[in-house]
Amino acid sequence: MSLLEVTDLQVEYASPRGAFKAVDGVSFSIERGEIFGLAGESGCGKSTTAFGISRLLRPPARLAGGRVLFDGQELTGMPELAFQAFRWSRMSVVLQSAMNNLNPVMRVGSQLTDVILAHEPGTSARDAWSRAESLLALVELPADRLRSYPHELSGGMRQRVVIAMSLALRPDLIIMDEPTTALDVVTQQGIVRRIVELKKELGFAVLFITHDLPLMLEICDRIGIMYAGKMAEIGRADRLLRGARHPYTQGLLRAFPSLTGPKVRIAGIPGSPPDLVSPPAGCRFQPRCAHAVAACSAAQPAMTAADAGGSVACHLYETEEAGHEPVAASRQR
Ligand code: SF4
Repeated sequence: MSLLEVTDLQVEYASPRGAFKAVDGVSFSIERGEIFGLAGESGCGKSTTAFGISRLLRPPARLAGGRVLFDGQELTGMPELAFQAFRWSRMSVVLQSAMNNLNPVMRVGSQLTDVILAHEPGTSARDAWSRAESLLALVELPADRLRSYPHELSGGMRQRVVIAMSLALRPDLIIMDEPTTALDVVTQQGIVRRIVELKKELGFAVLFITHDLPLMLEICDRIGIMYAGKMAEIGRADRLLRGARHPYTQGLLRAFPSLTGPKVRIAGIPGSPPDLVSPPAGCRFQPRCAHAVAACSAAQPAMTAADAGGSVACHLYETEEAGHEPVAASRQR
């Protein structure tokens, strides 16, 4: 059984023109101890997917359908109070802006111990403080920082505090939505390295969301590529790097410079994503796809199993058995 199973997730935003289908039938699973990345252009629905799973959607967004199973337990119908307890203890969330959401008039130590005491009320204040010290050590901050106010810390330190907070109850899954985007590159590297080390030490799984595809390819075990509210391709990071199958994934990879591969011209994907109030019939990528065939404007491609445990939603691969060649492998990083 997977740790997290998301099936046919649908999230809509109410708009004067009708429902904006930000996430439309997204399915994927995350295994224990795995880092699963969600990638795609801005507005593709990756953060909305995370918000839908963790019930952080705010009006006008609403969960319009789908099912979320966590360790076999149905989350979608769980009462709100039960879910709030669940969200910290089994599944925690680190958002890009979280470091700015620390309470400015409370010392870091009080904010960390509050989380522990709220969920484990039998814990003594001394034990909670001692656990808070250990949590800071996990994110490589000295214990005396517990007495600091958030404004006395750098952005990187505040984000480490938020990550420490997300680890307070030893969750099985941490959802990280652009956890380092607001930080400088060196700080980003330090935090990402520590996240990966902690994942190995503590065994939690991560749903990692970022627009930084090269970073994702480096740290994730598997990656789901989203386009216009749908999942386009899921595959092992090394498999996507060697040769992505979906034309959109290939386009994304061509849009990033290679650190180690040969010099190639960086190319964007022509066109722009569709209007999700009235998306085009057929494949949503069709207006931008250089490989489109007649079927692409007639019917939406279904997710089809690919090699190495991956899957791809593209008509080219539905008919692969009938003799079609896969799209040429993408560039190497
Ligand atoms: Fe391109 Fe057609 Fe595949 Fe969509 S289904 S990505 S339009 S080839």
